[in-house]
Amino acid sequence: MKFVPENIVRKSLLKVKPYSTARDEFKGNASIFLDANENPYNTDFNRYPDPRQSKLKEAIAQLKNVRPQQIIIGNGSDEIIDLLIRAFCEPAVDNIIVPQPTYGMYTVCAAINNVAIRQPQLNADFDLDLSSIEKSIDVNSKIIFLCSPNNPSGNLLEEEKVYALVNSFPGLVVVDEAYIDFANTNGFLSKLDNLPNLIILQTFSKAWGLAGLRLGVGYASEAIIDILNKIKPPYNINTLSQQYALAALEKNYQKEETVNSLIQERTEMEKQLQELNIVQRVFPSQANFLLVRMDDAKARYNYLLSHGIIVRDRSSVVLCDNCLRITVGTPTENKALIQALKNI
Ligand SMILES: *Cc1c(COP(=O)(O)O)cnc(C)c1O
Repeated sequence: MKFVPENIVRKSLLKVKPYSTARDEFKGNASIFLDANENPYNTDFNRYPDPRQSKLKEAIAQLKNVRPQQIIIGNGSDEIIDLLIRAFCEPAVDNIIVPQPTYGMYTVCAAINNVAIRQPQLNADFDLDLSSIEKSIDVNSKIIFLCSPNNPSGNLLEEEKVYALVNSFPGLVVVDEAYIDFANTNGFLSKLDNLPNLIILQTFSKAWGLAGLRLGVGYASEAIIDILNKIKPPYNINTLSQQYALAALEKNYQKEETVNSLIQERTEMEKQLQELNIVQRVFPSQANFLLVRMDDAKARYNYLLSHGIIVRDRSSVVLCDNCLRITVGTPTENKALIQALKNI
């Protein structure tokens, strides 16, 4: 059956007329802008930002080999996650499927929107367990959230299993690729044109080193992007973020350089950690962090904290008993971490 997003969108949204900004309504050239109640005196930011982020989308489209119409930019990926749930899930009726353990924002956004959450477990290798996912799906399941490489485990999900889900699920499948630049694969972006119910999330927060700008990027069919555009806040991306991201895209090689050195540091850190007898297991990672099973995660967390080093204690998360999640830092920072652990 052909996937048509209008069939699963929240019914009330079909009638919503989006806010039309002053700049949406004029076409052509003008030099005098008396339409938006802006202050005419130049402060560099006296004008509203481009609500469609046309230049930024053009640049992203070129880099990623997609069409600008397949892109939505959010105030962080977190905004896009929220838009997806609000667009497609009827509160108190629909549910989302979130295989665990994974990134926490999918469940938080769903809970805020009064959308139920089904949480089948990943398997022991943190990969998809298709039969437990299938069991958790019912007629009100609208979105499956997958994360690859997965946070907090760092592994890629098996491609064939992701395809199996995308092809069989009648709702949307989101693949969050926040860490894809650190992985040895290009991810699912090149498959977008053939998979009308697939949404891919990427971000400027990790490999690009621009977490403070708050820029997440969603890729999907034009029909899905149209729906999200309809409900997004009109000026969700500020002028400074748009300019800064454009400049970063022009210096793509800088991102490549930091990514390569972080991958090298990850390999080094993995090796060093494995030599410590307080470390039981370092899980293989395709991201900029390592999930590490310790002898006693709480004690080691507190010890590091008392030495001014903060890592993430994930020991209360399913399948992550006694695990710390450690971000790969600069060579100096990583040395300090290893030295502190050696001193225990
Ligand atoms: C860090 C992270 C993000 C990034 O979120 P932003 O809102 O774009 O900063 C998204 N997804 C996952 C899984 C992450 O770990």
